[in-house]
Amino acid sequence: MTKHSNNLSFETICSSEVEELRHNPSHILPIYASSSFVFEDTQHSIDVFTNQKDGHLYSRYANPTVDSVAKKLARLETFGTDIEGYCLLTNSGMSAISLVFAAFLNHGDTILTQADLYGGTTELINKVFARFGINAIYVDLTDIDVVEKALIEHNITMIYAETPANPSLRCIDLAATARIAKQHHCMTVVDNTFCTPYIQRPLALDIDVVIHSTTKSLNGHGNSIGGAVIADAKYKHQLWQSYKLIGLNPSPFEAWLLHNGMKTLTLRVSKACDNAMVVAKFLETHNKVGQVNYPGLPNHASYNIASSQMSKFGSMLSFELKGGFDAGKSLMDNVSLITLAPTLGDLDTLMLHPASSSHLNIKREIRESVGITDGLVRMSVGIEESEDLIKDLSAALNTIS
Ligand SMILES: *Cc1c(COP(=O)(O)O)cnc(C)c1O
Repeated sequence: MTKHSNNLSFETICSSEVEELRHNPSHILPIYASSSFVFEDTQHSIDVFTNQKDGHLYSRYANPTVDSVAKKLARLETFGTDIEGYCLLTNSGMSAISLVFAAFLNHGDTILTQADLYGGTTELINKVFARFGINAIYVDLTDIDVVEKALIEHNITMIYAETPANPSLRCIDLAATARIAKQHHCMTVVDNTFCTPYIQRPLALDIDVVIHSTTKSLNGHGNSIGGAVIADAKYKHQLWQSYKLIGLNPSPFEAWLLHNGMKTLTLRVSKACDNAMVVAKFLETHNKVGQVNYPGLPNHASYNIASSQMSKFGSMLSFELKGGFDAGKSLMDNVSLITLAPTLGDLDTLMLHPASSSHLNIKREIRESVGITDGLVRMSVGIEESEDLIKDLSAALNTIS
């Protein structure tokens, strides 16, 4: 058999890894699509396995692409504080929430939370973690007296909050919640998906853990599913242990997409927030529209707290159509620029009529108890020119009889 000059057989050359021909560093973060990483020698392996040296072993534990993006998000969530932040990226927002519960809760523990959580989170608590002995108490977290009463009456391990909440856009006073929770030795977790660290930073307000669905505004382009957990580095071991053992890691490609999106976070989110304000003001004066829920409107119940803890009022709003279910259908069927889609935080404006979509199979009394009425429409405002959005909305609203 003929052999090449390097003395290897054809088969071995085929199956061997190549030498990386990179003469100088790449400008853009590379995608490390490798399940494992190579040890220099046995001492290196000992150092990494005993956690004496940071190293990459196996991509379920850690991956250079994923870690680089996580580090950036940790810096953003702890910006302006002296907290040493630690971030783990996960393969969805739901897995970020699961990680927090798995890392910090034990059988018999009780979570204090709100009824108007992201629907998946409520189901995760009630259908999955309940079977592992985790209890949940649902109260109005916007009322700090109610929170204090619950902390006194029950043995609460964790307060889990989402602010602004969907669809009311009501806001929870994070600094007050953190203060009262600390008095009761209770951990605080905030889902910061709607805001992103650009407009709200719960860790700076003394909240212990932040989670994200990076699928939404952090990525912003609607092309990947992902999540993140960010906390003080003192929680590093506790979080990472559950992360690597459950296997919550995202693919390096998804992390790379997230990073692409995060680069324009400030440009996208500030434009979307400006547009949301224009749209909210337009809707407020429209004769087919009743209540408009946007925390940037001075008559919104959470205007004051939103003004103090958010640097902008966000890109999410909801509104009530006076004509109920039929008006909702009419609006949805007659927009042309705005898209009907059950996500949020994308570049383009999205609308959802929960009564004819996400909440179709949920009993009226239950959905109405969390503010989902027949005529309620939720909007995630994008970065289009606002006058085009108003034209589209205006034309569609005029089709309501
Ligand atoms: C979408 C969303 C989640 C769940 O995230 P996924 O990426 O879909 O798993 C959690 N919380 C909020 C507020 C969300 O909008």
